[in-house]
Amino acid sequence: MTTAEEDEWWIISSPGIRKCRRCKRWIAQGERIWRRQTNGAMYHIDEARCATALPMADPPPFVPATVEEYWQVFERAAASLESAKWTFAKTMPDVPHEWTHRRSWKTQSPERDAMFTDAVLRIKQLGIERRWRSMVNRKLDINDRYYWVMDPIKAPAEVGWLINRAVRLTYEAAPPQWFPTWPAPLESLVTEAVEGPLKDRSVLDIGATWVAATQEARRYLAIGPPKDLVRLNETTGCALILETGVQGFYDPLRFDVVAALYGAANHLSRTELERLPLLTTPGGVVIAMFDKTAVPTVFTAVWPTCTWREVGAYYFVVVR
Ligand SMILES: [Zn+2]
Repeated sequence: MTTAEEDEWWIISSPGIRKCRRCKRWIAQGERIWRRQTNGAMYHIDEARCATALPMADPPPFVPATVEEYWQVFERAAASLESAKWTFAKTMPDVPHEWTHRRSWKTQSPERDAMFTDAVLRIKQLGIERRWRSMVNRKLDINDRYYWVMDPIKAPAEVGWLINRAVRLTYEAAPPQWFPTWPAPLESLVTEAVEGPLKDRSVLDIGATWVAATQEARRYLAIGPPKDLVRLNETTGCALILETGVQGFYDPLRFDVVAALYGAANHLSRTELERLPLLTTPGGVVIAMFDKTAVPTVFTAVWPTCTWREVGAYYFVVVR
């Protein structure tokens, strides 16, 4: 481009979406560019720079080869995000959230810098589109929080510089309760399926209905909709509980028993059902109870090696 008198040097200092008028590619933060004074159009400094600029494009589709790979990718992003340094945005107390800056990852190591890029990419690929006020962002659930970036979806992940997170229930209505009434217990059946004393077992209870496990298990963690969890907490007073779905659940430890009892399993998507065996320790067991609004192919298709039988109003399914 030939430069005219109305052009000026310009240094991009703030983040935001900026495209080169010539090559349509990304202009980076901190980059020295040409800016046309008359209309504000921005250009890379020369064509050589245009050739190396990152393209603006939707994130590449995430096509995992296996179920395991999908959840490994999710857990890697969850682990790096949970271990980041988070700062409360104290200038915006009316919209409570926290942020982490790429700078604090970059200073740790080049690997950590690459993990930041990966986290930005995964938020865009795996996140769910949500509207808040006039903004629509993809937000990735990890336990009781969601994570998002302000960059446009087409911005390359390599230029992402800030990730936000907030407690989901601060901004979203609570999901519906799973159990209109406290389910009639079939605890002896469940204990039988565990094949051993609960005191030696760690238990993940999806739906939070297994009262004996809260009192006896070596480790007990419940996940599910908040009102069900509140009820469990009132019943036992000592349960470790987390408002999240299986989709957003992250815990680096595995469980001897993963249970979704009394129809809780009906509330899980196929992707979530596929994950349950991956959350167990070697030799661990999944116990799932579907009410009869489901048909057996729902679980036999996901877990071909499962055993199952009818118990009262439920299909009682065991996966080893
Ligand atoms: Zn350009």
